[in-house]
Amino acid sequence: AAPIADADYQRVVDEAYAKFKGVDEGANADYIPILATVPSEMFGVVIVTREGKVFSAGEMDYEFSIQSVSKPFTASLIMAEQGPRVLREKIGVEPTGLPFNSKMALEIYPERSVNPLVNAGAIAAVSLVEAKSEKERWNKVLNNIEAYAGRDLKVLKEVYTSEYESAWSNRGIANLLYNYERLYSDPEEALRVYTRQCSIGINTRDLGMMGATLANEGVNPVTGKKVLDKEDVPELLAIMASAGFYDESGEWMYRAGLPAKTGVGGGIVAVVPGKFAIATFSPPLNPAGNSVRGLMAISHIAGELGVGLYGPN
Ligand code: GLU
Repeated sequence: AAPIADADYQRVVDEAYAKFKGVDEGANADYIPILATVPSEMFGVVIVTREGKVFSAGEMDYEFSIQSVSKPFTASLIMAEQGPRVLREKIGVEPTGLPFNSKMALEIYPERSVNPLVNAGAIAAVSLVEAKSEKERWNKVLNNIEAYAGRDLKVLKEVYTSEYESAWSNRGIANLLYNYERLYSDPEEALRVYTRQCSIGINTRDLGMMGATLANEGVNPVTGKKVLDKEDVPELLAIMASAGFYDESGEWMYRAGLPAKTGVGGGIVAVVPGKFAIATFSPPLNPAGNSVRGLMAISHIAGELGVGLYGPN
């Protein structure tokens, strides 16, 4: 296929923004109380290419909590430090078909914490990071996400507090994992590091840059820093393809055909391997926990540019 012109990238981003801005379906997540207070009308759409070119429309600067969009990036840290085999053996790569915070999945498959994109696997992933202290573990997690974004990031303290104070479900998951010997640090420590990870503040452009680093075979296109070996990128994208959209992942692959990850803060990042990333921010979620406008915008762009992995393209 012919390379996509800059004008076409900008056109599809503008179109998606204009077309879905007025959609008012869905609702902010509220099981983490503070997420309900984020302005619902905010909407941002960005494409970042593997060369680091940015095409954007709408909200680019507001810092929202990364939430579950962090999960593939910490899975990447485990791959980078310990290899993809460790990720597969100690966490697993199977989609659950169950909600992201399922405890039932752990009872059905006690031999694995299922996959790194659901809460159980993500809590297990932070516990696997090699570290002598909680501080060291946390710094590694944060630095890795910063390397993907290409700038220093901070925890949104109010989000952390709100989420940690209401983390009964995730605490249950951490304890169950520990019981099954699928957790590799103290459970409460893993819960704290995981919750901090989910509370990192990013903007829409950061999310695009993080995806563009994956599109650029694991090298941040702006800083030039290598975050993940190029050989390991396909495995990570494969996990995103099969489990990135919670228990709506099949529907998502059917509609857009791209590896992606969503979070309850309203962020989504999708990757067109070897080419570019599409990221969106819009807080209202559908019942599966996916950003309504984001889902529409990314499927629209993927269709317009003909970049769905399964063709035609
Ligand atoms: N920190 C959130 C939780 O653990 C992440 C949920 C999400 O974005 O899927 O419930």
